[in-house]
Amino acid sequence: MDERTVDDRTRGLEAAHRAAIDFLGSLDERPVWPRATLDEMMSAFGGPLPEEGTDAASVIEEMARRGDPGLVAIPGGRFFGFVIGGTHPAALAADWLVSTWDQNSGSATLTPTTVAMERIAGQWMLDLFGLPESASVGFVTGGQMANFTCLATARNAVLARSGWNLSERGLRLAPAVRFVVGADRHGSIDRAARFLGIGTDELVVIESDDQGRMRPGALEHALGQATGPLIVCLQAGEVHTGAFDDFAALIPIAHDHGAWVHVDGAFGLWAAASPSLRPLTEGMGLADSWATDAHKTLNAPYDCGMAIVRDPADSIAAFRTGGDYLVFTSLDPWDVTPELSRRARGVPAWAAMRSLGRQGITRLIDALHENAMAMASGLASVDGIRILNDVDYTQVMFRLDSDEATRALGEAVLAEGTAALTGAAWRGRAALRCSMSSWATTRDDIDRTVGAIRTLVAG
Ligand SMILES: *Cc1c(COP(=O)(O)O)cnc(C)c1O
Repeated sequence: MDERTVDDRTRGLEAAHRAAIDFLGSLDERPVWPRATLDEMMSAFGGPLPEEGTDAASVIEEMARRGDPGLVAIPGGRFFGFVIGGTHPAALAADWLVSTWDQNSGSATLTPTTVAMERIAGQWMLDLFGLPESASVGFVTGGQMANFTCLATARNAVLARSGWNLSERGLRLAPAVRFVVGADRHGSIDRAARFLGIGTDELVVIESDDQGRMRPGALEHALGQATGPLIVCLQAGEVHTGAFDDFAALIPIAHDHGAWVHVDGAFGLWAAASPSLRPLTEGMGLADSWATDAHKTLNAPYDCGMAIVRDPADSIAAFRTGGDYLVFTSLDPWDVTPELSRRARGVPAWAAMRSLGRQGITRLIDALHENAMAMASGLASVDGIRILNDVDYTQVMFRLDSDEATRALGEAVLAEGTAALTGAAWRGRAALRCSMSSWATTRDDIDRTVGAIRTLVAG
């Protein structure tokens, strides 16, 4: 490589470093919601592909300058929309190195460093979640793909148990697999089922209670009438209320009927890592597969989801690349997920856990819950606001008297800029939702947010 290329690369990295520090430094004061629209950003970056290239540092400086007005302060302390974490310092820095190292982490023989770090990260998570240490952990892009990966594994396994080899004989003539889901499941479950050839009309939907938890009696009743291969999807952390299904009651019912039990725990699985919140997850370890994210509660950068399967042989049967059964010790990451080539997305998760330690992880999760309780009591003190859920975990949902006023408040909050939260519909009525997902949120952030909302409601 000639000297000019080396200089170009170094200056590019230095420009990215400066731009990153500037952006992070702006987080506390910039409006949380973007000030530019998509159209404005399309024109900022638009025009024909330039004929001539330019040096790396100029590209980075241009990108930082033009992109700035369209950025959301997601890594700051007052972004409460959806369920979206910030980025922990060690995870962010590790992510830079992941791109620099450029390791294709689908293959264990090709990239021992990153595959080992991901394997260790997986073992640490199983330990934190209290799940069997022999389970397989596949790193995928997020909760959606983790649900898909687990459910594809489940479908393969329940068909195999009924004597049908899906890999060889395909789905067309296979026995019908019944997907049993809760009424308040996350939309990614429906999408995962759809990708697997199961339409929304085919889902067996079980009634839930006022917090969105599946009713055990209703599950018992539905399974009593179901025949053939069964998959039951439960949930740790409902996105509106944060509620957890009653695993200790539900999983034994499902298993009595021979079902595979999957748990969507995109942000809820992490409750198991805190001694004080762990009771929410009681009985969860009895399931057959679990989906979770490191880019939510652990505050690793995008993208990082994990598909966890109790028996690695089931993962391998669904996803193995070669025809031969591989021994577990030489398991390649691509043998347990749909992907082949990919970045080492588990490495930032390793770095976050290494930096926080067990105590730090517990404190992070406990703080999210404490912030949620502080936010709920602050909001409840505002005239006209009603909290709609039991704040057992990280989610706070509230509304004003009318749907109209509730929606208008949501828009006003984004326009005012102190904080961002997102709208929702709950039991047919408009609501607003605050999700405590960021390590960066302080009590001052909560106070500033409640203060801004109080002023908007009064105005
Ligand atoms: C966020 C979320 C998902 C989807 O996860 P992505 O990382 O966005 O793909 C699935 N289930 C639940 C409960 C979630 O909160």
